[in-house]
Formats: sequence, structure tokens, C-alpha cells
Amino acid sequence: MRTVQQYIDKLRSMRPNVYMGGRLVPRDDPRFMGGIRTIATTIECGLDPQYSDLMTARSHLTGKTINRYTHVHQSVEDLLKKQEMTRFLCRKVGGCIDRCMGIDATNALSVVTKDCDNAHGTDYHQRFLKWLEYFQENDLVAACAQTDVKGDRSKRPHEQADPDLYVHVVEKRDDGIIVRGAKNHISIVPYADEIIVVPTRALTQKDADYAVAFAIPADAEGVKLVTRATGTRERKILTGSVGQYQVDCYVIFEDTFVPWERVFLCGEHMFGGMLALMFALYHRHSYTGCKPAVSDCLMGQAALVAEYNGIEKAHHVREKLADYVAVAELVYGAGIASAVKARRAASGTYVPDPVYVNVARYHAGVNLYHEFEMLADLSGGLPATLPPEEDFFSPETGPLLHKYIMRNPKISAENQHRLFRLLSDTLCSAMGGVAQVGGMHGGGSPVMEKIGIMAAYDIEARKRLAKQLAGIRD
Ligand SMILES: Cc1cc2nc3c(=O)[nH]c(=O)nc-3n(C[C@H](O)[C@H](O)[C@H](O)COP(=O)(O)OP(=O)(O)OC[C@H]3O[C@@H](n4cnc5c(N)ncnc54)[C@H](O)[C@@H]3O)c2cc1C
Repeated sequence: MRTVQQYIDKLRSMRPNVYMGGRLVPRDDPRFMGGIRTIATTIECGLDPQYSDLMTARSHLTGKTINRYTHVHQSVEDLLKKQEMTRFLCRKVGGCIDRCMGIDATNALSVVTKDCDNAHGTDYHQRFLKWLEYFQENDLVAACAQTDVKGDRSKRPHEQADPDLYVHVVEKRDDGIIVRGAKNHISIVPYADEIIVVPTRALTQKDADYAVAFAIPADAEGVKLVTRATGTRERKILTGSVGQYQVDCYVIFEDTFVPWERVFLCGEHMFGGMLALMFALYHRHSYTGCKPAVSDCLMGQAALVAEYNGIEKAHHVREKLADYVAVAELVYGAGIASAVKARRAASGTYVPDPVYVNVARYHAGVNLYHEFEMLADLSGGLPATLPPEEDFFSPETGPLLHKYIMRNPKISAENQHRLFRLLSDTLCSAMGGVAQVGGMHGGGSPVMEKIGIMAAYDIEARKRLAKQLAGIRD
């Protein structure tokens, strides 16, 4: 497993292809450093013996110890540990841990490449395993580019006015394929080693060119990354707080060459749709770990501000805290159920139960704004109107602000100020807004979970039950 320094050195050695604000920027641009620190947390914990049970696994390919983020789940236990690891790390960094897209994409590919080979006699699985060994050996970080720009949402890929609105194969050569198109919203790419590309939706025979999956170095020729970065506001004086970061890209493929050994699907439209669903399934399984952690962070802030405000015993406060617990542990519990009820795919990979995964992600998504609303309610207006940090430390206004921020006299003014600065970041910053939209749409918009639930649930069996209860015999 590599060290943080090796990870950063590799980023610095990569070809510049990251654009932000109209110019090329280096991969160690200060605006990416928060995200890089988040990935570094996954590396440091992987190397720390006290976390080895949770953070590492034995590779089923080489038998070597690897960071769990490069592992393919070989058991129910692996799925349970991935969920627990996700909640643990997301608590540590105060939100998204950034490395789930890679593990979710590799697991999805491990299942669908084998199923496709079994149906079509292709050799995608062996190619994938060879690449996976390289990925594990080098402890690499992968982004997953699934979401196409999609153009007119009511039309299939081949029906679009511009055929490039979904990523597709434009040429097949002896040595590889040429792809064109763009993926949107793709997290972490400027500080990832690899981009794993998978389809975004069900595909028909006419969409066969869009049934393409591959892995490509994030700095490959023909790949442009148009990037946006958001972080929590920088602390100048009250340092030591944990910040959150979101960096995402338009990943644009301009007639990009991908060698065959990195192509894991090319034209088998049925399996394109299956891969889209399989990635979404694993990614929503990650949400059963990260969303409870987000609830933990919001719940902690809600409980603390109630205590600082002196209202922690009020009935409505207890009710709100119970609401947080109900969401966090229901989502987490459904995640556990999805692992316990997992199936073993033909490749040997364990696949979580789709109903429990989708139910969990659905509840996490629909309750997200309620959780923010409860925190805004308990915090009062100060997160929105808190004066800048410097005013708390200027000789003229500092003592006054420290006097007038006081609530519970047992809590120091500095700690009250610190809490309200965190609340201001959580509720009122650009990062707070991005986290909310990400919490709703990440892993698929809410309706997608309902579609996932209905695809896997046996409603007919419930109708038979109703007939039995009513005495209907037909
Ligand atoms: C912070 C953040 C990070 C993300 N990171 C990644 C990432 O790393 N990798 C990745 O691949 N994706 C990522 N995503 C993308 C995410 O998966 C998508 O935002 C999500 O799938 C919704 O797609 P969209 O944004 O194109 O919205 P749209 O598809 O435009 O959805 C808007 C609305 O239209 C509805 N809709 C869409 N199509 C139809 C239709 N045919 N019929 C009826 N209604 C329809 C949707 O249900 C929704 O209500 C990220 C998103 C965010 C916000």
C-alpha cells in the first residue's frame, strides 16, 4: 500500500489536463488540497495497524494485504465492513470520503464483466482482473464517470439531436477503441489516478455504441477535465476545525484512444444497462454508510447548539434528536440487511440486496432536507448573520462580540463562536448547498431508488396475499 507522499508525488507527475476558471491548473492547486487531504485520510487509516481489520482486506487475486478501497467483496463480512468503514471515515472527515466511487465501480465491473462473458463468450472479465491487479498493487484512487450530460432527458442516446450527448464508441481499431462524449458532475477526478467509465442508463440495440465501459488514467491524452471546487470557508484564526470539500468535473473525451486491455464492455447493450444498475446499487450501498455519518454530524451539531442555547431539555428538541436517530439508524440498519441478504454473483463477488439498498438510499434522500431544516430551526438566525472571524479578534469589536455571543455561561465564548462558525458553514455556505444537492442526487435522483425498489420487489405476491385474506379464489 502506498503512502500519502507517494500518492501526492504521483499526482504532481501527471500530465496537466485540469481546467478551472478558464486556465490549466496543477493537480496540487490549493483548491484541491482539502479533497486530497480527504483521500489521504483513507490512505493513513489503511496504513494504521489499529484500523487494519476495518481498512484492509486480503486480495482474492494475489493474497496480499490491500486497502479495502481497492477490494472486491468476497463475503457478507466484506460488505458489512465496507459499510462500517464508510461511516467511520465520513465521521472523521465530517462528510463525503470521496473514495467510494472507485470501489463501487470495480465491484460492479467484477460482476457484470463475468455475466457478459458467460452470455456472449467475450473476455472482459480476465481483462478486468488484470487491470484490477494493477489497481490493487499500486493502491490507486479511482473516480467513476457514470452520469452522461444526457441532453433531452426524454430521449434515448441514439435519439439525441447530437450523438455525443452520451459517451460512445466512434471507432474500433485493432489496438483499441476511440470514444467521444462527456460525463458531468464527476467527483474527485483532478486528484484521482484513474477514471472508470460506465454507462448511465438502460440501452437498446440501437444504443449499442453507448454500451461502453473502460478504465483510463485521469491524465490520458484526449481527456479534458473542466473542474469546479467548493470548500468550507477558510479559517484564519480559529484553525483546527474539520472542513468539507467537493470537487467535480465535466470529463470530456475528445476522440480518446482506449487500448483493448482497458475496455471492459463494448457493444453488448443489455449488459450496458445492467452495469449502470450495478454501479448504482453498489454506490447506494455506500450511502448506507455515508448518509448515517452525515446524520451523525448534523445530529451532533443540533444537540450541541441546543445545549449551548440552554434548551436541550425542551420537548421539541428531544423529538428532533429522535428524528435524526430514526433516519440514521434506519438507513444503516437497511444497509446491514442488504449485506446479510446479499447474493454471490457468478464471478464470486457479493452483491447487496437491491430492495434494502434502495429503501435505505430513498429514506436518506427524502429526509435530507428535513435534517437540515431541524438544524436551522434549533440554531436560530446566527449561522446566517455571524460577523466575520476577524471582528471577533479585533481590539475594538472582539471583546463586545465575545460578550454578546454568550448563552450558557458554563461554555466559553470561543467555543460558542466555534460552534456557530461550523453551523454557518453547514447551513449557509456554498459547501452546505453543494452537500445538500449532492445528498439528494448522488447515486441517482430519488425517483431512481423507487424504480430500483419496484424492479426488485414482488408486488404480485402481495396481491396473492390480499386475495387469500379476502377469500378470493380465481
Ligand atoms: C455533488 C454531486 C456529486 C456527484 N458525483 C458523481 C460522480 O462522481 N459520478 C457520477 O457518475 N455522477 C455523479 N453525480 C451525478 C448524479 O448521479 C446525478 O446528479 C443524478 O444521477 C441526476 O442526474 P442529473 O444531474 O443529470 O439530473 P437529471 O437527470 O436532469 O434529473 C433532474 C430531474 O429529472 C428527472 N428525470 C430525468 N430523466 C427523466 C426521464 N426520462 N423521465 C422523467 N423524469 C426524468 C429526475 O428524476 C429528476 O427529478 C454527482 C452529483 C452531485 C450533485
